[in-house]
Amino acid sequence: MSDDRRSDGTASSRDRATSYRATQGKPVVPPHPSRVDLHTHSCRSDGVLEPQELVAAAAAAGVQVLALSDHDTLAGVRELTAAGKPALPLELLPAVEINSVAIGIPQLWEGELHILGLGVDLGDEAFEAALERQRGLRLTRFNRIVDRLGQLGYPIAKQAGELLARQGAASGAALGRPQIARCLVAARYASTVDDAMRRLLGRGKPAYVPREGLGPNEAISAIRAAGGLPSLAHFADASERRELVKELSGVGLGGLEVHYRHFGAETIADLAEVARELRLVATGGSDYHGDGETYAEAHATLYVPDEDATNLFALLGRRLSIRAGASPS
Ligand SMILES: [Zn+2]
Ligand SMILES: [Zn+2]
Repeated sequence: MSDDRRSDGTASSRDRATSYRATQGKPVVPPHPSRVDLHTHSCRSDGVLEPQELVAAAAAAGVQVLALSDHDTLAGVRELTAAGKPALPLELLPAVEINSVAIGIPQLWEGELHILGLGVDLGDEAFEAALERQRGLRLTRFNRIVDRLGQLGYPIAKQAGELLARQGAASGAALGRPQIARCLVAARYASTVDDAMRRLLGRGKPAYVPREGLGPNEAISAIRAAGGLPSLAHFADASERRELVKELSGVGLGGLEVHYRHFGAETIADLAEVARELRLVATGGSDYHGDGETYAEAHATLYVPDEDATNLFALLGRRLSIRAGASPS
């Protein structure tokens, strides 16, 4: 998620058709601590942890394969893999998440489809240029939301300015609504990030400003051109909306996020079936951002089979060995 916090942790039957995150039903009981997490965020986009803190926390929880999939930026991956940096305690897969603007597709949460770009080439200049444009649009939107909040009687210019100064210190950082929500919490205008999203920042709420940027087909094509595998993130309605997923696979979608941390067992089974039918590789992850929980707490409810990583790495032409039975240090 991102810009896509769970508003209340569950999806009511009323908004079921537009939900994509938590699903109701039997929870998944992980048979063993997950060794794979293909969806995470650091504070180079709208997560809380520094990239290296995230890697350390994931490794400590027993994760051997981690995709850092910040929104519209590879900055965290670049820092972690820069020349001279110490070897990482796990296999790090470069990734991004693009919140594509799905104009003309009805009944989508926030009017968006989130596309993970797994294994993209860090040296692809055209892709980096596309991400830079996305980040520019994020900054414009961020400033417009802060202005609107001021007009509404929630002045957070001071907190936002501090955030921008911090973010500006890291090149290539991307902004999102969770960061604005945290400013609102810091200024005591909201009790939690979810509260801020629910009352002020979510679609249709007073401080909502529409997103601009790549559409789903453009995001998929850009990820493919950069050598990555595009996977449709946290789309709980994939089974009911098979035609839409099929159309996306027609333009290059290669994966479906089946093992999403907030999905119940029934949703996971439905999505696995869709992935099989449409020949999409199943992916999975925690979508960890860090509000109100440690990585270890999130990881305790995560189950991503090793096969998600081994199949993905085979498609990407990357070598991977996972030590079965390895326990957290
Ligand atoms: Zn995410
Ligand atoms: Zn997302």
